[in-house]
Amino acid sequence: MGFGQIHTVDGWVNVEDIPTIDTVICQLCNEPTEAKDITITAKIKDGQVIAGTWSCNKCSAVNG
Ligand SMILES: [Zn+2]
Repeated sequence: MGFGQIHTVDGWVNVEDIPTIDTVICQLCNEPTEAKDITITAKIKDGQVIAGTWSCNKCSAVNG
């Protein structure tokens, strides 16, 4: 049983798969951002992940 899924620009991915993400496109940088340069914030309600966003550590933009 996982922790749910996170929606990224690449679609829904399992939380446990996040570390395997190579790059995602930041909406502000508009360039591939390495997984190590993003911070993922998941919204949890009633014990379930209902939404997730990630912020770019380079420009602090929040991507949903
Ligand atoms: Zn950025």
